[in-house]
Amino acid sequence: MDNNNIKEKIDQLRKELSEYNDKYYTLDTSDVSDYDFDKKLKELSLLEKYHPELYDPTSPTIRIGVGNPSSSSTTNYHKYKMYSLQNTYSKKELIIWKQRIHQSVSSFLSFVCELKYDGVSINLIYKNGCLTHALTRGDGEKGEDVTENVRTIQSIPLKLKGKNYPSYLEIRGEIFLPIKKFMEINTERIKNGIPPYANPRNTASGTLKIHDKKEVYKRTLSCIAYAVIGKDLPFDTQYQSLKKIKKWGLKVPETARLCKTMKEILHFINYWNIWKKELPYHIDGIVIKVNEYQKQSILGYTNKYPRWAIAYKFRQKLSETKLLSLTFQVGRTGIITPVANVFPIEIYGTNIKRVALYNNRFIQKMKIHHGDSLFLEKGGSVIPKVTKINVKKRLVNSFPVSFLKKCPSCNSSLIKENELFYCIENNCPSQRIGKIQHFVSNRGMNIKGIGNEIVEKLYRKGFLYKISDLYQLKKEDLLQINGVKEKLAEILIKNIEKSKSNPYHKVLYSLGIRHIGEDISKKLTEHFLNINSLISADYDNLTSISGIGKKTANSVKTYFSILENKRMIETLIRHGVCFSTKCILETKDFPLRGKSFVFTGKLSKMTRNRAKNMVEFLGGKVFNRVNNQIHFIVVGKNFGSKLEKCMGKKNVQILTEDIFIEMIEKKKKKEKEIKF
Ligand code: AMP
Repeated sequence: MDNNNIKEKIDQLRKELSEYNDKYYTLDTSDVSDYDFDKKLKELSLLEKYHPELYDPTSPTIRIGVGNPSSSSTTNYHKYKMYSLQNTYSKKELIIWKQRIHQSVSSFLSFVCELKYDGVSINLIYKNGCLTHALTRGDGEKGEDVTENVRTIQSIPLKLKGKNYPSYLEIRGEIFLPIKKFMEINTERIKNGIPPYANPRNTASGTLKIHDKKEVYKRTLSCIAYAVIGKDLPFDTQYQSLKKIKKWGLKVPETARLCKTMKEILHFINYWNIWKKELPYHIDGIVIKVNEYQKQSILGYTNKYPRWAIAYKFRQKLSETKLLSLTFQVGRTGIITPVANVFPIEIYGTNIKRVALYNNRFIQKMKIHHGDSLFLEKGGSVIPKVTKINVKKRLVNSFPVSFLKKCPSCNSSLIKENELFYCIENNCPSQRIGKIQHFVSNRGMNIKGIGNEIVEKLYRKGFLYKISDLYQLKKEDLLQINGVKEKLAEILIKNIEKSKSNPYHKVLYSLGIRHIGEDISKKLTEHFLNINSLISADYDNLTSISGIGKKTANSVKTYFSILENKRMIETLIRHGVCFSTKCILETKDFPLRGKSFVFTGKLSKMTRNRAKNMVEFLGGKVFNRVNNQIHFIVVGKNFGSKLEKCMGKKNVQILTEDIFIEMIEKKKKKEKEIKF
């Protein structure tokens, strides 16, 4: 064959195979046997191998990994943000959503109802009609590049059909694993002694990330496209867009329906709630979208989701398990929380052994009996909860669960306050351990290395009884704890010492006084500049501060009326723990002293809590809200309105996360002793 003939042959095979693929995957019909298809594919791949100059990224062979396997995963920014969807389980809320929309857009509206596919959302980027990139949603701003694996998915055309498409186009859709294929994969895994996958969605998500294109191809992932983003689009409604996407060669939600009234929307929801089980893939609800693009743009977006769309989620199938026993946990403030220990059950890929029963009211409302069969519900990332009792399975002689009368930790009588039970015994071991654990925690004094377990062991061995005992610990004491060796003991002692440089408001919060959270603690320390003035503050002084109510004032008064607490604070002061806004000035020169920060959005390199600790260790302050004292705003992903507020202020500097880290590093060098 001469070169011209080879090119012709390759073109013809590519065209033929693409058409077969198209019919098979988009129209669910086939004109060719598997044998003939594979034969042609082999022929094409051989020709391509010997003629690399005729490479075409849209060739059908690309799908099965003739190219190189995908390299390790990379992430890329989305040109247009990928939003989540607001959701509801209630039809009433859906009606309210529609009414709210009508307040902003008074003219006539239509809606498109689509199935909510339970898979992985994908952003397919087409340049001049060719698929160039495929990114997962990731955090909405940037997603994982899964182009190579996505190329293996037959229902995603490598080249769009027709001509009428803008030169740059993003097609959004859902990649999922059909239930039948999921079952086949699991049967095979079980046969080979490998644990089965939890559910089709996780399997689809995992499949997109594996580094073996052939394996991805074999798993026959599928894709349904439901949105187009780009400029100069040849349509102006959601409904028309679906028709166009289909013409371009993608699978679209064939079941989508244009609805004009709430009645039609509810009918669609009810219909699919019954028939969803007949679908070859999982859906977890219905998405309702305003049809007209012009009206969508009037409604706009919040930081997280479009205001013009909502997902009505179906309630998850309930999972049934048995109540084995009850545990009553004692919190650091003495509150008693009942927890059901259940026969282990897997729901949505997580093994559930314990379920919170919240409080006595919940137990009474559910009328839970010992040994009951419980129905649990857990949707997506939601914590499981008991939704119903299978009364039919109740044992004849079983008796209702009743709340404890005595504290399980110290056996003293419980008191009831607003339907909640408390242990008020000052010497209750669980409360004492809990208080010390809170004091050393990340959000508290952030004493690295001393976690819950070590605190409990130190308490049981008699080395810790109250918070201030921490500052009397010796290396020899720590060495008596299982697993603590010389080196670690030295580090722990150093870290305890370091915690003395925590600012006053952090120390006050760490004491664990009821109702004194981080914000309230800051407020109190701004008004009462040292602990003595706070101790002597009367009820009216306290409640005159905005944000400090009756409950908080009473709690402060009660805490300081206990002699042991006052003595403990004296001991802490003697050890050098800071109980005054002035002590920062008195100690070393802290490089961020006098500087205030506010954070907005999600940081990618550290938690916000860690960032806050870093600032505070260097003598700076962190506020939750924008105020006139702010010097810096650190902006992360999906930032909120705080940025806009700061932009209106002259003296606020805007920092990206990287610049913030750089700044901290520089300051840290200045203040070498401070380690995080
Ligand atoms: P959630 O993950 O619960 O926040 O729901 C939002 C996700 O639903 C989107 O990111 C999409 O991946 C997915 N989704 C499934 N079906 C649709 C649909 N028909 N239209 C829009 N989004 C959908």
